[in-house]
Amino acid sequence: MENTSTEEDIFVPTGDCESVSVVGTALTGGLNPFQRHCGLLCDLVVAYRIVTPAGVPLDVTPESDNALFKALRGAGGSNFGVVLSVTLKVEKVPRARPMVGVDLEWDIEEATAVWQGWGAFAAQCDDRLVLQIDMCRTRLSASGIFLGDETELQGLLDSSTLPAWQHMRCTKHDGTSFWTQFTYNDDVACRWKNFGILLDQAPGPELIEALRVLLNDVPFPALDVNIMCLPGGGMVAQPGSSTSFPWRNHVGALQIIARWRQPHEDQAALGWACRVRALFGLAADSSSEDGDTRFATQHFDPSPLHLYAGWPLAEQSRQDAMERYYGDNVSELRRVKVRVDPENVFRCPQSIDGT
Ligand SMILES: Cc1cc2nc3c(=O)[nH]c(=O)nc-3n(C[C@H](O)[C@H](O)[C@H](O)COP(=O)(O)OP(=O)(O)OC[C@H]3O[C@@H](n4cnc5c(N)ncnc54)[C@H](O)[C@@H]3O)c2cc1C
Repeated sequence: MENTSTEEDIFVPTGDCESVSVVGTALTGGLNPFQRHCGLLCDLVVAYRIVTPAGVPLDVTPESDNALFKALRGAGGSNFGVVLSVTLKVEKVPRARPMVGVDLEWDIEEATAVWQGWGAFAAQCDDRLVLQIDMCRTRLSASGIFLGDETELQGLLDSSTLPAWQHMRCTKHDGTSFWTQFTYNDDVACRWKNFGILLDQAPGPELIEALRVLLNDVPFPALDVNIMCLPGGGMVAQPGSSTSFPWRNHVGALQIIARWRQPHEDQAALGWACRVRALFGLAADSSSEDGDTRFATQHFDPSPLHLYAGWPLAEQSRQDAMERYYGDNVSELRRVKVRVDPENVFRCPQSIDGT
């Protein structure tokens, strides 16, 4: 789709992993490397064509059924029908529009200062820049895309609150290559586990320290872990009331992704992933008194955690999941569910229930 649209001078702000479908992300919301400027992918949807639980094909637009249209934008996966197609409102942009990727790198020992500098900058700067921070055991970097030229980008970074970096690299991009800017696109070949939450403030020094402890404590060296944060911020330009994604004010989307390759490593890798959940107070068994659980008890109250429906977390009740994914939209979504799918044909453990 990106190749075709670029040939026609059209730009679509998709996500950045090859294995993820456009329809899936247009249903869960669609976080993307241009979101501070262009909004979520679901913000660009003007119509969904669906087959209802009764087997009836339906074009859903704000004019035909505003409540169902809003429900599909952000809560549409496996809830209201089979989505056959999505119509997006796209921008015509000149192919020559400058788009530059940037990589910055720091010494890992500077983690606290860099995260703090990033927190004060990334969600408030010029919304044409989306600068994601990325921390591994031995490496601390930031990677981003700027819808402008290199000189302008350099000026923005020089005046930022980011500590001085050791390395900087710029790469020219267009609508077909931007996703190569990000390093984790080999997801198809990997076994992996994602944990993601939406933050209403940048991670503080205690959380960074706790994350570094976890990074240094992986059960086998080939467990590759990235801790990333994609800035939110400028997404507030889109009125949140027209979609089911309620967390427009989030400062960053924190993701902890563990990847490994061998089936015999599954148990150790998934055990480590449980420790990540415990750190945020979401472990299946929170009665144990280990360091991670103690950290969660001191620093996190899991009930107001804000989550993204595209990153479902199995370790929570349906009721908690509904509130954490959809906030104040839950009652309205339940009303739409009862009207459109009264027999609950489309269901999974975290789908919207009509009660
Ligand atoms: C490697 C990877 C990278 C990701 N990157 C991003 C990203 O950059 N931005 C982002 O916002 N999210 C991202 N996500 C999360 C993504 O939004 C969700 O996983 C999304 O549900 C993926 O859609 P899918 O159709 O590919 O997945 P599936 O697992 O096929 O579908 C997810 C859910 O939606 C339902 N569903 C799928 N298609 C339809 C349909 N046509 N009609 C009705 N229901 C349907 C399925 O039943 C299922 O419940 C990523 C996920 C992965 C695995």
